[in-house]
This record gives sequence, C-alpha cells and structure tokens, in this order.
Amino acid sequence: MALIVEKFGGTSIGSVERINIVADHLIKKHQAGEQLVVVVSAMSGETNRLIGLANDITNSPSPREMDVLVSTGEQVTIALLSMALQQRGNDARSYTGGQVSIRTDDTHSRARIVDIDGAKIKSDLDRGRIVVVAGFQGVDVAGNITTLGRGGSDTTAVAIAAAIKADECRIYTDVDGIYTTDPRVVSNARRLESITAEEMLELASLGAKVLQTRSVEFAGKYKVPLRVLSSFVEGPGTLITYEEEGSSMEAPLISGIAFQRDEAKLTIRGIPDHPGIAHQVLGPISDAHINVDVIIQNASAKGFTDLTFTVARSDYVACMKILNNLVTELNAQDVKGDNQIAKVSIVGVGMRSHTGVANKMFKTLADNDINIQMISTSEIKISVIVEEQHLEKAVQTLHDAFELEKV
Ligand code: ADP
Ligand code: ASP
Ligand code: MG
Repeated sequence: MALIVEKFGGTSIGSVERINIVADHLIKKHQAGEQLVVVVSAMSGETNRLIGLANDITNSPSPREMDVLVSTGEQVTIALLSMALQQRGNDARSYTGGQVSIRTDDTHSRARIVDIDGAKIKSDLDRGRIVVVAGFQGVDVAGNITTLGRGGSDTTAVAIAAAIKADECRIYTDVDGIYTTDPRVVSNARRLESITAEEMLELASLGAKVLQTRSVEFAGKYKVPLRVLSSFVEGPGTLITYEEEGSSMEAPLISGIAFQRDEAKLTIRGIPDHPGIAHQVLGPISDAHINVDVIIQNASAKGFTDLTFTVARSDYVACMKILNNLVTELNAQDVKGDNQIAKVSIVGVGMRSHTGVANKMFKTLADNDINIQMISTSEIKISVIVEEQHLEKAVQTLHDAFELEKV
C-alpha cells in the first residue's frame, strides 16, 4: 500500500465548498488503496487576519502569544476537513502539531523542526484512518506552541513525509506546478515537468513562494519524493528531482526567474577605511536580529570606503537608526537609503558549464532602460537589485531573452 503525504494550501481549503472538494478527492485516493496523511494550512487570508488582530492591540506582541494566536488558523481547517471525511465514512482524526509530537526549537515565529515521532500517525493509518495534521506549527521542549514561518505548512508536510518514510509527498496549491517564473506576473511562463532540488532551493530562497525554502531543504536532505500539483485541475504537476552534480549536462541554461519585492537598501558613505569596517557596521545590524542580504563594499576616495547592503523593507527604519548612530562613531560622511527596490534573480544549474549568462542578463536590462543598482552571484544564480517600479518589466524581458516560454 502506498504511503502518501498530501498538503493543501490556504486557497485549496479556503471555504467549506473547497474543503468538501478536498474530502472527495481524499476519499477517492483512499479507496484506491493509498494510506494518507493530510497536512493543511489555514484558510486563505486567515493568518493575515490574525496578525492584524494582534497589531490592533499592540505593536510589539509577545512572540509566544503571537504563535498561540496564528497557529489557530490551522486548528480550524484540520477539524473541518476531518468532519468532512467522517461524513464520507472515513474514521479520520485531526491532530495539532503538538499532538503528533512535531518538536521544534524555541525560536517563535520561525522555529525549526528537530524531531517528529511518527508512531501515532502510523498507528492511525494502520486502522484505516486518514490522518489530518495541522501545518505550520509545533511545540518546543517546554511545550510552548511554535510556528515555522510564513508558508511553513509545506515544511510540515515534507518533514512528516521524511519521518514516516512516505512514498511521495504531494503539495497541492493554486497553480498546477512550478513555473519558469510566477505565472501571475508573466502570463507566458511555462510549467516545468521537473526541477532539481538544488535549483528549487535557490528559487525558493530568492522569493518564489510556491514552496517554503525550509521544505526544499528537508526534501533534499532526506530525498523525499516531492511533487507540486494543482488542487483545482488534474495534471502531472512538477516533480522535484535529486540529480547528482554533473549529471545535468543537458540542463537548460536558466531554469527559472525569482523575485523579491519589499526590499530596502542602505549605504554608509565615506568611512575611514581600515580592517574591521564591515564587522563594525554589520555587527550591530546582526545584533538587532536583522538579516542582511546583498552586501557591497568598495573604496570611494583614497583611504575611504562605502558599504551598501540590502534588508527586508520592514527592517528599513530600524537599520537607518542603527547606521545614523554609527556615523559619528565611525567618523563616516553620511547615510543614504532607498526603500523602493526589488531583487530579480535568474537560476540554473546550466550556468556552471556556460559563460556569458551574466552578460546577457545585464545587456537585456540595459536595452530596456533598467538600471542595475547591485549585483550578486553564486555558482547557479545571478541576482540584481533594481528600482521596484521596474520589477515586472525586468522579469518579463529576462523571461523573453532567455526564451523560457519554449520547451
Ligand atoms: P499555498 O497557499 O497553496 O501554500 P502559495 O501562495 O504559498 O500557495 O504559493 C503558490 C503561489 O506561488 C502561486 O499562486 C504563485 O503566484 C506563486 N509563485 C511564485 N513563483 C512561482 C513559480 N515559479 N511557479 C509557480 N508558482 C509561483
Ligand atoms: N497559514 C500559514 C501562512 O499563511 C502557513 C501556510 O499557509 O503554509 O503562512
Ligand atoms: Mg504556501
């Protein structure tokens, strides 16, 4: 009997009607002989609504209470889906993360799973039950509820699949697979039959929210057979593959384009240059638990240096404050900032064996009058920072230039 984990995102179970449709689908699969563990998100919009309620009360909610609050969205959907399955004759059971021992560290709002005890799930499966588990949540060692970060239900699903050694993990969402870029931004984006876990990891971490980054890390580590599919239309979806490095000689140059809105850039200029500047500037940023993304340091006038870096837009004001305090301390000239920027990245393992990709990217953007403000590269990706107003045009023209719409 095949052992399968299926995960349904917010839109897929966003109404009673949708929950009934998902229940029909699950019963059909169960009757066809699959043992099923189902992971669900909160109904679409619910997590944002809950965060909004907290923000109406305080602008600094306690991380612990925040997790108690936002984890409730998933408790609603596990119960409703289980009722719908029971209505159809299956003795389904719903469980919160804590009830099936999804143990995490204690980093509220972005906890990491450390252990899952699959025994309870397995014993229910053996009794013919469909097991419905709340995504996005776990408990720390002290029993506090934790959550895994936005989009975390993907990670719950993949982690359970790894823990119970499922034959496949299927992520059902509102698009019918992984595309060359977000199909809501580029209308001629193409669905990929398959993508390597390595490329998917880059795309996810560079902003393609179709899979949470951690879920791809988990999938790669435990080689979980993983597929992304639509819960609205039937189809093959996209398979995540685990090719060995070097076996992808025939891989296309570029597999996909990801982008991240809501970025901000800060520059501290004219710092007297000596060893330790980067540490002195970025240390206090890191102490404030702010993640820095792209960093550039270069010499300005002789003996002076400028340091520019990007952060999430929500951290812009806090960063500005820190840098303004540092100006006097470091004897720097001034601080400049821009919170209307975005990052566009092209990703492909084919870049390893080809040259000229970066040049083609830069020329395409230049031909379209899009100014590149910063560049960052790694072995299989090139990212550029551009003005946010040019984001859509940048993604579309790069998609055209690299002919991603073609097979
Ligand atoms: P769910 O609620 O099911 O978890 P998400 O909204 O988190 O769904 O993820 C699905 C969305 O990801 C799609 O609606 C699409 O707009 C977006 N997306 C971004 N990049 C891609 C991509 N490369 N391929 C497919 N979808 C993408
Ligand atoms: N409900 C959570 C969120 O909106 C988790 C998820 O949907 O995966 O981020
Ligand atoms: Mg999601």
